[in-house]
Amino acid sequence: SGKWGHAESILKVFGEECGTPIEKLRKVAEAMVVEMHAGLASEGGSKLKMLISYVDNLPSGDEKGLFYALDLGGTNFRALRVELGGKEKGVVNVDSEEVSIPPHLMTGSSHDLFDFIATSLAKFVSSEPEEFRPLPGRKRELGFTFSFPVRQTSISSGTLIKWSKGFSIEDVVGEDIVGELTKSLERVGLDMRVAALINDTVGTVAKARFGNKDVIAGVILGTGTNAAYLENVTTIPKWQGLLPKSGEMVINMEWGNFCSSDLPLTEYDQALDEASLNPGEQIFEKIISGMYLGDIVRRVLLKMAEKADFFGDIVPHKLRIPFILRTPDMSAMHHDTSSDLRVVGKKLRDILEIENTSLKMRKIVVELCDIVSVRGARLAAAGIFGILRKLGRDTVKTGEEQKSVIALDGGLFEHYMKFRTCMENTLKELLGDEAAETIGVEHSNDGSGIGAALLAASQSQYL
Ligand code: ADP
Ligand code: MG
Repeated sequence: SGKWGHAESILKVFGEECGTPIEKLRKVAEAMVVEMHAGLASEGGSKLKMLISYVDNLPSGDEKGLFYALDLGGTNFRALRVELGGKEKGVVNVDSEEVSIPPHLMTGSSHDLFDFIATSLAKFVSSEPEEFRPLPGRKRELGFTFSFPVRQTSISSGTLIKWSKGFSIEDVVGEDIVGELTKSLERVGLDMRVAALINDTVGTVAKARFGNKDVIAGVILGTGTNAAYLENVTTIPKWQGLLPKSGEMVINMEWGNFCSSDLPLTEYDQALDEASLNPGEQIFEKIISGMYLGDIVRRVLLKMAEKADFFGDIVPHKLRIPFILRTPDMSAMHHDTSSDLRVVGKKLRDILEIENTSLKMRKIVVELCDIVSVRGARLAAAGIFGILRKLGRDTVKTGEEQKSVIALDGGLFEHYMKFRTCMENTLKELLGDEAAETIGVEHSNDGSGIGAALLAASQSQYL
């Protein structure tokens, strides 16, 4: 009928606007390179903050002892205890506890959020066996992964630039994050020293590099998205400090805030951005990462329901609720292999209370999930290609046998198989066969936890 035609044309237009032909991806990567240079040249020189991590020496593998880590940066928060065994043994043991953050704390006061974190950490510590108590006169040491943009003032201090990913707590913007945490640790009576403050991307580089010396960058595709990589210090004009012995510095790009006129943005992205807690910011993140993909699908479905009676005469009211359709549910629908797409039918019924969907409808929903995830995955690949180009590692130089490995982590990369496969294939497409042979992509688990503990160890005052 005419209505079906209209729904299909909404989908078709959306699909065209989300198009990411290879030439477009090359332009995106080129824009990324330009912004990387600008962000390294001067503070505030670019939408890419290119933050200096103060990590100029990655863990050697000799680190030994018991270290703690806190991982905050998404919907969950974790406390970890990591036992490092030195050269031969590496990471001997990891204990961890995950707590979901009550939503009201994400937009409340910093006092409440940090007290919640400190209290959870104190509980974790108090339940540990006697053998883990530090020797008399010693303090426990902690690596704090805080995955929001922070202007670091040292390896263990830094001020929050802004929030993202659904957090918004004004009173702590511009404040020292470690100072806030330390005050809360004192309030709950936990005697622990924050030895390192890091971003999850930096932890991912540290953890992955610990196991593979070819690792040059870490990328997170989870609730949000971001990347960090190893830069040659002599190419960081804004770096005013001493030149580190290693000659290198890990840079936290904060690439989620990347934006370019070459990005394929649609009316739905614009509406999502306007309704967000951080309008105008994190545009790259809002079309790539797990927090948002499901909601883009919801917005297109809503339009199809409103303008083309896609689900019948009545617009299903649940479809109007922001973020009701989560990316894991989108992924489940996208991967539905049953002939009648019964997973899609079940998700539409359970989440959106839409009954009796036809196979034709379900197929359109799958197609929509495909459009949204393919765009995100291909753009993520373009970002990685941009890093490789910046480092001159996107081509093979004769006589050189240089390998480069990108470590990836995050729930989106880990669990959304079609997204992951598309991203890896697109990166190969951008590199071409010859260069693709020299580039590896590996899943590096839990850099935000173990990486933080490793960096705390390398900063230990008892070395
Ligand atoms: P964070 O980024 O918050 O530190 P994770 O790396 O665990 O945490 O990523 C969690 C995010 O990954 C979720 O918000 C969700 O968007 C995405 N995700 C988790 N599971 C899946 C899944 N099965 N399919 C698609 N996306 C998923
Ligand atoms: Mg994480």
